[in-house]
Amino acid sequence: MLDTAHRTLVADTFDRPLRNLRLSVTDRCNLRCQYCMPEEEYVWLPREDLLTFEEIRELVNIFSELGIEKVRLTGGEPLLRKDLPTLVSMLADNHLIADLAMTTNGVLLSEQAQALYAAGLHRVTVSLDTLRPERFKRLARRDSHAKVLNGIRAVQRAGFTDLKLDTVLIRGTNDDELIDLIEYGKHVKAEVRFIEYMDVGGATQWSIDKVVSRAEIVQRLEQHYGEIQPIREISSAPAERFLLPDGTAFGIIASTTTPFCRTCDRSRLTADGMWYLCLYAQRGTDLRTPLRAGAARQELKALIASTWQHRQDRGAEKRQELRVRGALIQLEELREDPHLEMHTRGG
Ligand code: SAM
Repeated sequence: MLDTAHRTLVADTFDRPLRNLRLSVTDRCNLRCQYCMPEEEYVWLPREDLLTFEEIRELVNIFSELGIEKVRLTGGEPLLRKDLPTLVSMLADNHLIADLAMTTNGVLLSEQAQALYAAGLHRVTVSLDTLRPERFKRLARRDSHAKVLNGIRAVQRAGFTDLKLDTVLIRGTNDDELIDLIEYGKHVKAEVRFIEYMDVGGATQWSIDKVVSRAEIVQRLEQHYGEIQPIREISSAPAERFLLPDGTAFGIIASTTTPFCRTCDRSRLTADGMWYLCLYAQRGTDLRTPLRAGAARQELKALIASTWQHRQDRGAEKRQELRVRGALIQLEELREDPHLEMHTRGG
């Protein structure tokens, strides 16, 4: 352990720092995207198990003292959590958190963008898989496309800069919109990031032939725009960034074909306080039980530190090593343990 003025930094068995926390504030969602929540009904986390804002703040404070400096609110759909701006302002008070961001489907954003900005949220990423309302309805099984586009505009109006749009590309579903999405991104001054379709828990309809790889994305964009340059930068961010000839930047998150486990400093806290060290991990560490049992701060800190120091996960690389690859977890098993779902882990 290395002591600095404010923190005790910890590293895992591959010397990866504890730096990035994805904080799911609810497992509920107001969309049913086919690649994430293909069922209509789910087994939801019991409400009484959800961490209160005070509990979340306490855990984030402890995490930040161990090196977490980036926190991303996610879900389910984070904007479904009541009074989210209150939580944002509680977390924004922590000066060790240099980057406080949120990933949202945007449906409720036009109502909340202003309050989130005022509360101290730094950045917003909106998931946007299609520009076509009818396609959105088929893919997300809700008729909310116009609301999402309004939400995107509201982000800019509220004063946020650094808006990102995340698109999960699925062959035969929306991969004909690569260029349209880049052009839309230019129009709304947002950086578009294409995410390879991942075989995570919940993606029960996944198959390798539906994955549009990083290489294919670059090749198809080059055919249209001309030569694409990679942006050389040292970063543990999941997206590799590129420049089009006109200077437009975009990103690709290639977790399926080009995993980046070696630099992965991310972990995930579910809304009920289970802490997962990898998106693909089958087991997590329960932080809610000791917290509610009145464990001392130092005890929780020691639990988190030693769990991280034993971390060996490299889930995406292990998936890539498989010769035959299908859905990660079958539906029956997901129903028995909702923690295995992507919408519980927060993506
Ligand atoms: N509801 C919010 C949203 O839509 O952004 C936050 C939660 S969502 C689970 C977080 C991210 O995970 C989204 O960008 C979503 O597209 C991504 N995601 C979900 N399932 C995925 C899959 N099978 N492959 C790749 N990305 C996926």
